Amino acid sequence: MRIKGAVTKGVVVALLLTLAPITAFSAQKITPGSTCKVYNQKVTHQNKVYICIKSGKKLIWNKGVAVVKPTPTPTTILTPTAFTRNIGDKPDEVDGFQLKVVYVVPKDGKDRELDLDGTLQKIITEGNNFLTKEIQRKFPVDSWQGNYDIEFFKSTLTKLELISMRDAHRVLFNEMKIFERKDVNRKMYSFWIDIDSLYNGTACGYSNINDNRHAIAIGPQCSGRSAQFEDNRVTAWVHESLHGIGVEDTNGDGCEFLSHEPCTSLRYKIDPERKFYVGVSTVAGSDILNRRVWSGFTKDTSLVMPCRMLENLEGICTIGENVIGPPRFQWKDFSSAILQDVTDSNPVFVGNGIKSQKPWGANNEYTCSANFVCPSTTLSEDKLGIRKYRWVIDGVIGEIFTILWQR
Ligand SMILES: [Zn+2]
Repeated sequence: MRIKGAVTKGVVVALLLTLAPITAFSAQKITPGSTCKVYNQKVTHQNKVYICIKSGKKLIWNKGVAVVKPTPTPTTILTPTAFTRNIGDKPDEVDGFQLKVVYVVPKDGKDRELDLDGTLQKIITEGNNFLTKEIQRKFPVDSWQGNYDIEFFKSTLTKLELISMRDAHRVLFNEMKIFERKDVNRKMYSFWIDIDSLYNGTACGYSNINDNRHAIAIGPQCSGRSAQFEDNRVTAWVHESLHGIGVEDTNGDGCEFLSHEPCTSLRYKIDPERKFYVGVSTVAGSDILNRRVWSGFTKDTSLVMPCRMLENLEGICTIGENVIGPPRFQWKDFSSAILQDVTDSNPVFVGNGIKSQKPWGANNEYTCSANFVCPSTTLSEDKLGIRKYRWVIDGVIGEIFTILWQR
C-alpha cells in the first residue's frame, strides 16, 4: 500500500468474495446414503442428480432426483451458421449497460470452439429466459451482426493458475486491458473460463458484490443438464450476475436462487416470496428491479447505477448525477474535504465533501467502518471518457484517481 500524507489515512476497505458451489459433476458412481465430502455438491449419475446433504454430523448422498429433459423454450434469432469468432470488442450495437461474455481458453487449454457451435449462445439465451420467467426482466447482451458478441480470449495463464487463483475475474480484466479500451458503454464482464472449476476445485463461479466482473468455470465438472436447465451453466452466470448488481447470498430455502443450501427439487426460483432482493425488500443487499441494468430500462435515471472503483485507483461511473467518495481509504475524522478535478493542468474545485458512512451512495459496496468517516459529494458529469480527481482532506492532498464515464 502506498501512502502519501499518512496522518489522516485509515484502513483499506475489504472486499467480500462470494462463491457459487460446484453445481454438477458427472461420471461418478453414487450410492444413496453413502458418505460424501463436499456439502451441497451435486452429481449426475445414471440420469439422477444426487446432492450431498447433512445427516446428523455426517455428509451423505441423498436419494437423487430424476433428470427430466426440459421442454426447450423458444429462443431468439440465433442462426447457427452465422457464429463468428470475435477477437477484441466489436463496435457496440447495444446502447448503454450490457452483459459482455468472454470465452476464455487457458494457455495450455484446448480450444473447444464453444463460441462457434452455438453452445455459449444457448447458455446466454437460456439464462435470460429464466430471468424473464421469474422476474420479467432480462439483461441486454452485447451483440454483433445479429448474434451475441462473445469475445474470444486466449489467456497467458495456465489451467492450474486459473483454477488456483481467487480473483480470475479481476486478473483477466486486467490481462485483457479492458479499462484501457475506454468503452463508451458500461458492461458487466462475464468471464467463461474453460477449466474444470474455480477456487481450487470448490466453486463453479465467483463474484464480488457490486463488481462489474465475475468468473465462471465452463469445463466438464461444472457442466451438465438438470431437471430445470438444458445446460446448468446457466445458473452460474445468472447467479454471479445478480451478485454483480448488489445481491448477497441469502439464507433462503435451498431452491431460492441466491441460497447456497441444497435445492433438492432442483428447480430454482428467484426470490419467490419477494422478500430478499426482488421488489421492495433489500434484505439481501439490493432490490434488483431498482437497478438500471435491464433490457428496456437502462435509460431510466430513476433507477440506480452506482459507480464502481476497480483496482489501481480506477473506477467507472455512468454519466449523470453520481455520489462520489474516496477511492480506498477511510479517515478517523476530518474537518474539511474538497474534491478537485485534476484532469487539466490546474485543479478545479468540484465540491465539498460531507462525512458519510456510504460515501459512494447507498447502493455501492464501499462502507466506512465504525469509528471512521469518509468524504462524499454529488457530482454531475455529462461527457464520456476519462477524468481525474483527488480529495484534499484538511489540506492534505490525496491520491489521484481516475473515473471512466460511460453510458
Ligand atoms: Zn453466491
